[in-house]
Amino acid sequence: MDLQYVTKLTKLINQYNHEYYVLDAPSASDAVYDSLINELIDIEKAKPELKLPNSPTTRVGGLILDGFTKFEHSSVMLSLSNAFHEGDLRDFDNRIKKMAPDVTYFVELKIDGLAVTLHYANGEFVRGATRGDGVIGEDITENLKTIKTIPLSIEEEHPIEVRGEVYMAKPVFESLNAARVANGELLFANPRNAAAGSLRQLDSKIAAKRKLTMFSYAFVNALDLHLDTQSASLKRLSELGFNVNQTSTTCASIDEVIDFVNHWQAKRDNLPYEIDGIVIKVNELDIRSQLGNTAKSPRWAIAYKFPAEEVTTKLEAIRFTVGRTGMMTPNAVLVPATVAGTTVARATLHNADYIASKDIRVGDEVVIRKAGDIIPEVVAPIKDLREKDAVPFEMITNCPKCKEKLVRPDGEVDHYCLNVDCPAKIVAALIHFASRNAMNIDGLGEKIVKQLFDAGLLVRIPDVYTLTAKQLLPLARMADKKVSKLLAAIETSKAQPLDKLLFGLGIRHVGAKVAETMAQEFGHMDEIISKDASALMSVNEIGEKIAVSLVDYFANDENLAMIAQLKVLGLNMAAAQRAAVSDDSAFAGKTVVLTGTLSMPRNDAKTLLENAGAKITGSISKNTDYLIAGEAAGSKLAKAESLGITILTEDEFVTLLGSA
Ligand code: NAD
Repeated sequence: MDLQYVTKLTKLINQYNHEYYVLDAPSASDAVYDSLINELIDIEKAKPELKLPNSPTTRVGGLILDGFTKFEHSSVMLSLSNAFHEGDLRDFDNRIKKMAPDVTYFVELKIDGLAVTLHYANGEFVRGATRGDGVIGEDITENLKTIKTIPLSIEEEHPIEVRGEVYMAKPVFESLNAARVANGELLFANPRNAAAGSLRQLDSKIAAKRKLTMFSYAFVNALDLHLDTQSASLKRLSELGFNVNQTSTTCASIDEVIDFVNHWQAKRDNLPYEIDGIVIKVNELDIRSQLGNTAKSPRWAIAYKFPAEEVTTKLEAIRFTVGRTGMMTPNAVLVPATVAGTTVARATLHNADYIASKDIRVGDEVVIRKAGDIIPEVVAPIKDLREKDAVPFEMITNCPKCKEKLVRPDGEVDHYCLNVDCPAKIVAALIHFASRNAMNIDGLGEKIVKQLFDAGLLVRIPDVYTLTAKQLLPLARMADKKVSKLLAAIETSKAQPLDKLLFGLGIRHVGAKVAETMAQEFGHMDEIISKDASALMSVNEIGEKIAVSLVDYFANDENLAMIAQLKVLGLNMAAAQRAAVSDDSAFAGKTVVLTGTLSMPRNDAKTLLENAGAKITGSISKNTDYLIAGEAAGSKLAKAESLGITILTEDEFVTLLGSA
C-alpha cells in the first residue's frame, strides 16, 4: 500500500462521511463503508507513517449543519468500537477480564438511528442535541420536543442528561418514502437517514410530521443518581417515563452474550425497527470508570455488527471457466475476504457484457456480495480507488483451453466454444455426469476425472463403465482400496433411476427438476426418445425450448448410439417407482420447507419427504404446513415462527416419518 492509495482511500471515506452525516444521503452501503474504513485502520496500524492528518479513523461522526445553534457537550459523545466475529467478542471479554474478573455484561440491540442527548433541569426538558463531531453537536431542542417518547417533564429535581437513539420505525419509513415517490421527491436510503434528515430540519413542523421515536439507554451522570449498573440505569429511565428497549438484558458470561447475539441475528427481521448489531456494555459502572475511553470509543463497550452481505476487496485477475455446453464464465480471482460469514476468494462476473457495462478492471478494489446460498458475485468497482494505469476489460476471443475461436450466438449474452472435442468441455461434462445430483459416483470428482482424461482412459460417458482395476492401478495416487471403492461406486451408479441419468447426460435446458418431471411422466428412456416436441410439451412445465432441445439431442445418431451402449453396459433406463403414499403419512399432501443444516444430506431428506407425499417448496408462506429446521436455521425459522407454522426438529421429522 502506498501513500497514493491511502490518500485516495482517505478522501473517499471522508466523502462518504459527508454524504452520511451532513447530507443524510449516503452513496455507499454501510457494509461497504465499514469494509473500507477497516482497510484504512489496518493500513494505518501496519504503517503509521502513512496516516494522514485528515484521516477519518480517529474522528467521530460528522459536521454541524449551518442554521443550527452549536451545542457543546458536557461529556464527549463517542462512537463504539466494532466486533465482526465471535472471536472479537471473546477478545473483548479477555481484555476486560484481565482487569475485572467478576464483570457482568449488559446487552442491547444496536438501534440504527442517530444518537442524541437530552438535558433536564428541575424536572423539565430544557435542551437536546445531536452527537455532531462528538464534542459539538447541533441544538435540535424544538425538533426533539415533537417526539412523543421523549418526556417533557419528569419527576427528578436533580439535573440529568439522558442519551439514546432517535429512530424511524420501518412502517413509518415505508409510508414516508411512498409519499415522497408520489410527490416526485428524492427517496431516503434507509430509516436511519430518514430519521437523521427529519431531526435536522430547521422547521420543527416538518420533524413533527415524521413520527420519530426514541429509545433511551444511558444517564451521563448515573453516579450522581446513585446508580451502580447499566441495568439499574435502564430501570430508573423507565420509571421516569423514558422509552426503554425491553429486549435488553444482563449476561453473566460472554457465552450468554453470544447466545443473545445469535438469537437477534436470526430474529432481527421481525422487529418493527432496524438494528445493525448488538451493543455489549460492561454492566458495573465502577469497572467502566476504571477502563476509561480511547479517543474514539469507550473501552467498556463494543458493537457487534451483523455479518455484512457486501464487502470490498481487490480483483487480482479474471479467469474463464469452460462449462459442459462450452459456455465461458468469467470468474473473479480475489484477495480472500469474509462476506456473510464465509471466506470468498472467487466470485462470478456473469458474462462479458456485465464486466464491460460496469467497467470492472483487473486491479480494482471491488464490492462483492453474497447473500444466503447464492454464489458470490462482483457487484461493482470502486472507481475512486482505481490505479491510473488500470486497463479496460476486453473479452477473450479464443477458448482458453482448446484455442478455438469463440462464438456469441445472436441474442445471447454468453460466448461459447463450439469445438466438440474441446478437452475442457469434455471434462466438465464428465464431472457433471458423475456429480452428486446426477449419477452420484463417489470418488469420481473433478481431480480424478481430469487425471483419467489426461491418461486417455475417460473421454466419453460410456468409458466410465469400462474402466478396470488393471487400467487404474498403475496411475499416480491410485491405491488398491481407492480403486476398488471407485469401481464399486461406478457399479452402484448403474442402478440410478432415469431422472438422474437424464440429468447427467447434460442436455441443454434439462435441469434436475425437468429431468424428474420427464422421468415421472414417461417412465422409460425409450418413451422419451420416441416423443416429438408437441408430445413433450403436453407435459406440465415443459416449454418449447426444453422440448426442442430434447428432440435435437435424440435426433443425433451419436447420442443414440451412446445411450444404446449404456443400456448394454447395464444402466437402468427406467424411472424410480414412487412408493405408494400411505394415507397415514403425516406428510401426505403437506407443503414442507427445509432450512438449516441437517445431519442427513438435504437431498435425502427431500426424497424421504417426497416419498411420504409432501410437496417441498423453497420459501415460507402461510400455505406452508411444516418447517423442518436444522442447525443454525435463520430467517426462515423466524418467519415460520411469526406465521405460527409448525416447526419440526430433525429428530421430530424422522419420528413423524417413522410413525406412518
Ligand atoms: P456506530 O454506529 O458503529 O456505533 C455508535 C452508535 O451506536 C452510537 O453513537 C449510537 O448512535 C448507536 N447506538 C444504537 N444503539 C445503541 C445502544 N443500545 N447503546 C449505545 N449506542 C447505541 O458508530 P458511528 O460512529 O455512529 O457510525 C459509524 C457507522 O455509521 C459505520 O460503521 C457505518 O455503518 C455508518 N456509516 C455509513 C456511511 C455510509 O456512507 N454508508 C458513512 C458513515 C458512517
